[in-house]
This record gives sequence, C-alpha cells and structure tokens, in this order.
Amino acid sequence: MNDESARKRSSQPATKHSALTVTRIGGMNALVLLLPVPDDAPELVREGLARRNIVNTGGTCPCGAVLRLPNLAARRAGVTDLSIVHEDDCPATDENVLSAIRRWGR
Ligand SMILES: [Zn+2]
Repeated sequence: MNDESARKRSSQPATKHSALTVTRIGGMNALVLLLPVPDDAPELVREGLARRNIVNTGGTCPCGAVLRLPNLAARRAGVTDLSIVHEDDCPATDENVLSAIRRWGR
C-alpha cells in the first residue's frame, strides 16, 4: 500500500498539507485530521503515515489495526482516550514511523 492507495480509501485529494475530513466512525460523525504524506519521503515513512490516515478515518490497517472508540457511556462521560494497536512490524506504529522519519532526517 502506498500514499495513492490510502488516498483512494479515504476519498481524499492528494495534498502536502494536513487536511480535515468528516467521516463516520462507530456510527458517529467525526472530524479527522489527516497527516500529510510527503511525496519525497522514503517508502516506510509514506507507508506508515498512509496507514495511520486509513485507520484514523475509520478504515482497517493492513496489519488489522482499527480505531476502537470508547463505549457510549464513556463517550457521554467525556472520555476521549482512543487506542489503536498496530502489529509490532507495521510501519504505522509510533516507534516504526518515528524511527523512519528520524532516518530520513526530517
Ligand atoms: Zn498497522
């Protein structure tokens, strides 16, 4: 998967800047900030960011990770912690995407 496939799945235009999109997650409308995916970034950076955009807009990462919302009672109580658990070898984990960005030098 690459930046282009992530854009197709999220129905978003190509952009070098952050973009907001409205999607439905867990039956609710959600305003989501999409991460910019630099065209000149190494493959692992682009893949990691693209996968995060897929999951953040309600899709499923190729590793199986999905955005899990708190239950309705927790949401009504104002709980906003969200958990996304990627497989350890997925380029979208915090550790892997940050490591790829550091190696890129940005
Ligand atoms: Zn993943």
